[in-house]
Amino acid sequence: MTLDQLPPLRETLDAHGLMAKKAFGQHFLLDLNVTRKIARLAGPFEGCAVIEVGPGPGGLTRALLETDASRVIVVEKDARFLPLLEELREAAGGKLVVVEGDALEVDETALLAQHADGAPGRLVSNLPYNVGTPLLIKWLTGPWTPHGMALMFQKEVADRVAARPGSSAYGRLGIIAQAVCTARVVMDLPARAFTPPPKVASAVVRLEPRADRPSADILAALERVTAAAFGQRRKMLRSSLKALGGEALCAQAGVDPNARAEVIDLPGFLRLAAASGAD
Ligand code: SAM
Repeated sequence: MTLDQLPPLRETLDAHGLMAKKAFGQHFLLDLNVTRKIARLAGPFEGCAVIEVGPGPGGLTRALLETDASRVIVVEKDARFLPLLEELREAAGGKLVVVEGDALEVDETALLAQHADGAPGRLVSNLPYNVGTPLLIKWLTGPWTPHGMALMFQKEVADRVAARPGSSAYGRLGIIAQAVCTARVVMDLPARAFTPPPKVASAVVRLEPRADRPSADILAALERVTAAAFGQRRKMLRSSLKALGGEALCAQAGVDPNARAEVIDLPGFLRLAAASGAD
């Protein structure tokens, strides 16, 4: 069987007697028009391999296999999906690698070395909601950093990742993400696009690595400064950053000590991080 001879996803799920499990954050995309659109928005893939977290029934995987990525490496924690994914692997003629495991634990550098000749890897995933944010932090802070990412989150999380200063969604997650990558919401999806539908809408964020990514020390300092500043987001910085130097720190960074965290832009936070003394 080849990819275009595969039965529709719903039939495949039925044939394997598979139902979504809440514990694994399973909300499936069964419409290939939708998954192909996500794959288009996630590319280009020339010269790259793809890592997909949580292939589940394989709707997004099928779309990724149609791209010119050199390999598609999928990491699935729910072993019930392995027989179905094995059928997909056979239909994909060697392009698909199926790994059973927890994406929080896998070593992406080793996966790419073993299965894709060390090619740069792009990440594409309809993320399990319960581990979406920890996975994003893992990919932002390294040691392995993706060549680019297109990730489906709950809309509220997607908005926080791509938030700009002054918006209510602006906070730590967006600042850390945007210090490392450019971040843009590229697609919104209503809950009814998923089987079963989640309680909330979703959105895809595209993240591309910045050439001027801060050093690990500055990133660690940025995490400390943003934790303090947004831990008390209603307070002025001279008060919320008191333990890190308060007014003197703000003066050194050229940031208004009477401002609140939500109006300070990324360069301002990077200056505060540098002034607070990277380890
Ligand atoms: N990609 C499929 C789709 O779009 O229809 C399924 C997406 S579903 C939202 C999330 C998938 O991630 C499920 O297949 C689930 O079993 C898997 N998953 C959950 N936690 C995981 C983890 N820690 N590591 C790897 N996969 C995980």
